[in-house]
Amino acid sequence: MGAEQLIAAEGLEALHAQIRVCTLCQLHTTRTNAVPGTGPAPAEIMVVGEGPGFNEDLQGKPFVGAAGQLLDKLLAQIGLDRSQVFITNVVKCRPPQNRDPLPLEAETCLPYLRRQFKLVRPKAVLILGRHALQQMLPGVGSISRVHGQFFERSGVGFMPCYHPAAALHNGSLLADLQRDFERVRAHLDSFASRARENLEATPSDHPPTPGPAPLPRPAGSLEPAQLRLL
Ligand code: URA
Repeated sequence: MGAEQLIAAEGLEALHAQIRVCTLCQLHTTRTNAVPGTGPAPAEIMVVGEGPGFNEDLQGKPFVGAAGQLLDKLLAQIGLDRSQVFITNVVKCRPPQNRDPLPLEAETCLPYLRRQFKLVRPKAVLILGRHALQQMLPGVGSISRVHGQFFERSGVGFMPCYHPAAALHNGSLLADLQRDFERVRAHLDSFASRARENLEATPSDHPPTPGPAPLPRPAGSLEPAQLRLL
């Protein structure tokens, strides 16, 4: 592990220790365990769900129930294991009876997500479900309209997707979800190939214009006010 990874991993561990004892909103009174997130830092992909459910609250880990099993399959389909991906939620404690997080709860928790994003430094962020979308990219449109689109900000692609739990209830969403994950794979692949081109493009290869190839730009660009993560 290099120094940069070590610093990020230690930063994440300290942050997660803080989250585990957080009492900033009322959700701490009903939780069994806070669920900070799992995965390495840095990681190419960050996955953000809405909030922990019953199983996550018991285990203190995100996406460990049925929706998590589908998430694992979708990741495997694009050649990724969950251990390579940073997985978390907008709120870190389970809302009672799995109700939607209240705006104040999401707002109170958002600085934790921002800090995780800075430590993980992902190339792509998958926003799972309409509630996470509402919190992270308010105003970009409904999940049914914008799922599978990349919104770019500061070189990071933010992609809303249907929530795996929604696909478990409505099988017709599964094909959309699979297609959207394929687009994430393509995004990462084009990042990798541009990075390789940049490495190979030495000044002697291209004397007149040796500048690096630009990184791929996803479809939509975000106005600063639209993305609540940066
Ligand atoms: N649904 C979510 O949004 N997050 C989890 O961690 C589990 C289910």
